[in-house]
Amino acid sequence: MFTDAPPRKANRAGFLESDRMGTLALPQDDRLTSIAKSMESAMKNAASANARRLYAQFLSAASEFYQVPNCTIRVLAARPRRVRERGTFELFGDYDPETSIIRVWRRTAVRKEVTSFGTFVSTLCHEFCHHLDFQKFGFEDSWHTRGFYERAAALYHHARGTPLKKLFWLPVGGGRWRIDWQRTNRSAKTNAASV
Ligand SMILES: [Zn+2]
Repeated sequence: MFTDAPPRKANRAGFLESDRMGTLALPQDDRLTSIAKSMESAMKNAASANARRLYAQFLSAASEFYQVPNCTIRVLAARPRRVRERGTFELFGDYDPETSIIRVWRRTAVRKEVTSFGTFVSTLCHEFCHHLDFQKFGFEDSWHTRGFYERAAALYHHARGTPLKKLFWLPVGGGRWRIDWQRTNRSAKTNAASV
């Protein structure tokens, strides 16, 4: 996971604000976790009416909690030719700020493998955080900043009921960062051991 490079002039303040915003308010109840749990069993048939109803339910529960207009989801079998996401290497979804439509695809372009449930939820949370950037935080754009990935991770771990890891970052030049997974995982292990 790499962050986007900071914009040169315009929108730089918004970018820096997004970068600094490393936390996200989360529901204190299980309104999202319970839907995510049902989703996991329903997703054995990802295109079933039941599964699609649950994806929509998840997004409307999240939109209601964050007090933003609802967004729509389209689950596609394979990755479309044109995607809106920039700067990320592993592409499983995109978000259109004009229409508030999230698209998630179940097969990767390169290996044609079906993405796992974890990847699916992670993509859903990632794209929903783009929705929040525009609809809740009012950013002019939704950059992949360190803060963005931290917010998306907070939502993901909340939805799955897994412990949140503190993310550590390494600079890669040009104002960009990547997650230092070694340090991130080591620190998560230490934390788990000390509980
Ligand atoms: Zn993205």
